[in-house]
Amino acid sequence: MGMKKKSLKYFLYLLLLCFIPLKSAAQSKLVIVLRVDDVLSRNTEILPRTITPFQNAVEQRGGKVTWLVIPHRLIESANADGSLVRELKTTVSRGHEVAQHGYNHICLVCGQSGHEMWCPTRPLLYGEQMQLIQSGRKLLQDSIGVTAALFVSPGHNEDSTTYRALTDNGFPWISTTKSVRNDIFNGLYNLPSDAEYTWSMTDANYRPQLESALNHIRAEGETQGCYTLLFHDYFIRQGYAGGIVVRWIGEVMDSLNLRYGNRVQYMTLSGAAQYFKTVTSLSPIDSPVIPSLTSQNYPNPFNPSTTIRYGLPSSSNVTVKVFNILGEQIADLVNAEQSAGWHETTWDASVASGVYFYRIAAVSLSEPGQRSMQMKKMILLK
Ligand SMILES: [Zn+2]
Ligand SMILES: [Zn+2]
Repeated sequence: MGMKKKSLKYFLYLLLLCFIPLKSAAQSKLVIVLRVDDVLSRNTEILPRTITPFQNAVEQRGGKVTWLVIPHRLIESANADGSLVRELKTTVSRGHEVAQHGYNHICLVCGQSGHEMWCPTRPLLYGEQMQLIQSGRKLLQDSIGVTAALFVSPGHNEDSTTYRALTDNGFPWISTTKSVRNDIFNGLYNLPSDAEYTWSMTDANYRPQLESALNHIRAEGETQGCYTLLFHDYFIRQGYAGGIVVRWIGEVMDSLNLRYGNRVQYMTLSGAAQYFKTVTSLSPIDSPVIPSLTSQNYPNPFNPSTTIRYGLPSSSNVTVKVFNILGEQIADLVNAEQSAGWHETTWDASVASGVYFYRIAAVSLSEPGQRSMQMKKMILLK
């Protein structure tokens, strides 16, 4: 009897928690840029050879992609059927960005494919760099119909001659490996990438890489107000086969959206560069107080089963339990370690009609001390 009274008191306390308003967070934002380098490799073995699944996964979650296109790929045999050009035209019309990645990613001095604008053998002359930049620019204009505002040097190597040639061609934005987020040459603004996690992604490193990325985005993003996530070569890298990277970016974005809500803002690389150039002060984003969200079960009222969906901003130890109106636990639906993102569980009720409550509790595995709990009412109508 004493036990029962105690559990009822606890139950009422939990019910009260449902009505305490969450602390409102300071108005600041976290800008996220998703950049994919080396679109369309020469390796046509790995399927699907398409940018659309990645684009759609990002788009469904409110994001934008910046595709770094090697212009010469558009006239190579790998694009003989013209499908890449069609997809790039579509992606631009949907608000994503096409940026110029050199001309053909091959050095005209030494013939290597690891760099183009800068060579260890001898510096490329101004006229040579101008030629590469202009030829690439014209190819993008002729085939996709866009004039790229952003340039990334193949191999991420360039010199001040490159900067001069770019500004003389009217490029306002560049992305280099320098850590500086600022003007680097006569108004040429640099927005570097922060990290890459998917270069050779496998099932084995999928989850550790997810945790690392989320932790890094949190640490960098909450102090800098921005984060640029780099991906490579959509078609060739081992990790893109089987859609593993598409699934991965979906989980990353679900987690960010759950944690920061509308304070996370996805921008193209040049959109973000423009924003940082014009904004005078950038206030870092606050870490949310309550790190998880739930939605109402569906259907509700129900008979005899209903589904409970909930989101975890970080991987957590999760329990989902069902109580009756007396506060007695009558079902234990989930008791497990779960990853960040959306999850669902179904309750198949074999009890009498009436009002029931479900309680979702999560204790973060990656951020000690972060816990959250939510309780909601549902009605079983037989
Ligand atoms: Zn070279
Ligand atoms: Zn490249």
